[in-house]
Amino acid sequence: MHASKGFPRVRAFVLSPPFFFFATALLTWPLLAELEAFEAFYEFSRDHEDWDVDEFVMLVFNLAVALILSLWQKSKQLTRLAQEKEEERARATRNASHDPLTGLNNRRAFTSTMDTARERLSDARTVCLAMIDLDRFKPVNDLRGHAVGDAVLAGVGDRLRAAVGVDARVARLGGDEFAVLFENAASIEAVERQARRIVHMMDEPFEVGAAGVSISCSVGLVVWTPELTVAEVMRRADAALYRAKGEGRARFAWYDSDLDKRSTERAKLEVDLRAAIRSQQVQPWFQPIVDIPSYKLVGFEVLARWKHPEKGNVSPEEFVEIAEDCGLIDALSHDVLHEACLTARDWPSALSISVNVSPVQFSSQDFVRQIHSALMACDFDPRRLIVEVTETSVIADFEAAREKLTALKELGISVALDDFGTGYSSLASLRRLPFDRVKIDRSFISSIETQPTNQKIVQVILDLARGLDLDVTVEGIETAQELSYLEAQARAHGQGFLFERPLPPDEVKWRMETDWADGMVAPDRPVLHTKSRGSEAG
Ligand code: C2E
Ligand code: CA
Ligand code: CA
Repeated sequence: MHASKGFPRVRAFVLSPPFFFFATALLTWPLLAELEAFEAFYEFSRDHEDWDVDEFVMLVFNLAVALILSLWQKSKQLTRLAQEKEEERARATRNASHDPLTGLNNRRAFTSTMDTARERLSDARTVCLAMIDLDRFKPVNDLRGHAVGDAVLAGVGDRLRAAVGVDARVARLGGDEFAVLFENAASIEAVERQARRIVHMMDEPFEVGAAGVSISCSVGLVVWTPELTVAEVMRRADAALYRAKGEGRARFAWYDSDLDKRSTERAKLEVDLRAAIRSQQVQPWFQPIVDIPSYKLVGFEVLARWKHPEKGNVSPEEFVEIAEDCGLIDALSHDVLHEACLTARDWPSALSISVNVSPVQFSSQDFVRQIHSALMACDFDPRRLIVEVTETSVIADFEAAREKLTALKELGISVALDDFGTGYSSLASLRRLPFDRVKIDRSFISSIETQPTNQKIVQVILDLARGLDLDVTVEGIETAQELSYLEAQARAHGQGFLFERPLPPDEVKWRMETDWADGMVAPDRPVLHTKSRGSEAG
């Protein structure tokens, strides 16, 4: 510190012209003597006695000044070069430990922070690690470009720093993965408050480019007790993060030892799902959709079913999410759509099929082409297909969503907004997208005849849909009371266990030849022998 403070003053003195002139003269004097320059000079002046002495002295003096000045210049250049080298070295050291995009510590630096923290662990202090991962960041990068992605990451870095203040160490471990080490936490509750704040802060849209970017983050938390190694505490925080994602993302979760068991199970399920998709074990089932109040069969919702050889039926919500996470969603959706089209091709042409599209699948650049090529491959009329997308799929990027939905419609496909009412956007804001239909989520239908809140919500959705000229499907009709309440409100399409549960293809075929031969699906039909042929038990 002292050396670097004193050094510039010494350098300034050394480089000052008087000192420099004096030092150069002093140093060059013996050299000139050695070279017998003075004798040569004497000889030279004798030979040129006729020269004007004044002019000659001026010439020599000027030459000497020029020489000294150029030496001085050169030395300044050298000093500057040394300075630049020094700065570069400092930059390199900084880059080795910092992420240039966010300015946060990188994985390498964080690992050494963790090593040091481990040495200081004691029972007297509360140390916690948070592992943070952005939810659905990939679509931002894919659809809005890497410049936008980078800007969001930089913003995430700023918000993390702001959320945890100076008491915690924040790092970007790579990609959209961050970590925070709380080395001196007041309590577990305090760490939890910080985690909640992190999740909350990421929920605010990022002002990037013309449109804002909305993402969220999931946080895995673990308490670092002295017996845990760095590797183990990081693994546990990762497992907790997995849990936060599994519980629906945009939240935090603590590590618990049951998690290990569950994550091993999940890893196994992932392997099994891969094999199941390869061997086409995932099959489309069909749930009837009827016109209310005529009960005329208008089509089916296609619902994927996977019967695991040991575990039995796995819920589609579970395996669709695994498929999304491990890059299998396109293959899975393709197979389900392909099979569904092959099955429905032989049914009366007035019957439509509605397929579900997951947000990850929808975000793929190739999405419309994939749907189109599946239809072409089985020669299925696009006008019989309805694609159901959820709000989550479209809010990430309205413009891209509009393009895709328009492209689907140009092919003759209809588009429905699924699970409506469960998200945050208003129907009015979604009017900017060319939907044909909204599906009111089944959570609002449950006991609607006695639930004033649900009645109000459904009434508002029905009114808005009418105003915007959108068709409506009501899902989850389970009781005759719910149905009669709905019948009094509006003409709509309806589906639910009251009409029928999802059925396998051969069961649908059989029912079309028997119970539904007149094209009607009566509600609450007494359970026939046919149910035992393979429909889902109640
Ligand atoms: P969803 O799109 O809301 O599908 C309707 C879900 O409600 C289905 O659950 C259906 O079986 C269930 N359901 C129908 N009627 C009733 C009723 O009266 N009462 C109750 N309680 N439930 C009823 P399922 O088949 O378990 O599917 C769950 C979710 O998984 C679906 O929700 C959908 O988001 C997703 N999913 C299913 N198949 C696929 C698929 O092939 N691809 C994608 N991406 N997602 C799928
Ligand atoms: Ca659906
Ligand atoms: Ca739903």
